[in-house]
Amino acid sequence: MGAMIRGVAAAAVCVTGGLRRCAAAIAKGSRPSAAFVAAVALAIVGFGAAEASAGPTCKPKRPRPVVHLRNMGPCAFDPGTLSFVGKPPQQAACLLRALDRSRNLAPAPADLPAALAGRVGQPAGLPAREAIGALLRKLDLERDFAAALWRPVSRARDNDPDAPAARYFVIHDTSGPNYGSRAFPADIDVTPKINNLRLFWCADGWAKSHVVINRGGGMMVGHDFEIPWRETKFERAPAFAGALKGLFLHVELIQPRRRAPGFGRRNDAQAPTPGFTAAQYERLALLYVIASVRAGTWMIPAFHAPIDADIRGGHDDPQNFDLQMFARGLDDVMRTLQRDELLASSAIDE
Ligand SMILES: [Zn+2]
Repeated sequence: MGAMIRGVAAAAVCVTGGLRRCAAAIAKGSRPSAAFVAAVALAIVGFGAAEASAGPTCKPKRPRPVVHLRNMGPCAFDPGTLSFVGKPPQQAACLLRALDRSRNLAPAPADLPAALAGRVGQPAGLPAREAIGALLRKLDLERDFAAALWRPVSRARDNDPDAPAARYFVIHDTSGPNYGSRAFPADIDVTPKINNLRLFWCADGWAKSHVVINRGGGMMVGHDFEIPWRETKFERAPAFAGALKGLFLHVELIQPRRRAPGFGRRNDAQAPTPGFTAAQYERLALLYVIASVRAGTWMIPAFHAPIDADIRGGHDDPQNFDLQMFARGLDDVMRTLQRDELLASSAIDE
């Protein structure tokens, strides 16, 4: 095949194939003519425009490996009741366990922070939707969260109307980018390299989680809380035949990682200290309140790590999560909402 013909063929690949195939096709050609270079340049510009308008796609290219369950996990999930064992505060204590330095699950906290212990699993004390709406307006978050306040959360069994509403509010970290053996830069809380939420946006509706929170407190909704979405291996296990789809809501907190010594050459086991910013805890607490109001019950917060702990290739997130900071964020949100409700009612009385 002559260089020119090869060039035209490569250009065609550039138009119809992906950028990787395009680059490979160009690499195969030798001594390209001016016409070839022009054709490829046009094709790449055209492809770039098409790709930009279509947006990034996130649907896995191949089927994900089948998840084999050895057991129902360290918090003993009961497929009959679609619930982990124990009363909601006990479940939260079991599910809010991080991995320790040896990568084993740490013991359950002796006492849950009062902000959580007095609420989880209870319908009492949920704030009024109107008060949350006013707060969202003040925070300029109305567009993404206000209208949906009056909508429910997802239900298990892929939104089966007879299945229980979502019970578990699962906290993740993005575990990336991975700095390898380099130190964390000083600007991780502000640099767009890490915090650009567009990096998590998916044009095809396959965003990884319901919401992503960056280190400045910015948020991106991947799926509304009414959309049943799975992010853990446990939920995907064929043993459940899809029954867990919709029982869990998922929130990702942006957190870079680096290599930790003693865990092999390629790992992402080391998180920054502190792991998250105050802005992330505040927004996470706000989302927890919104999700709970929509569920009609204070949800059971959980970490990803214990849910997948007994599954091969399970995850270690979130790392360096400070439960007290989350509880403080929840107290702050509630205090603000109660103050605003009081102000509103006294304005009506006058
Ligand atoms: Zn996770």
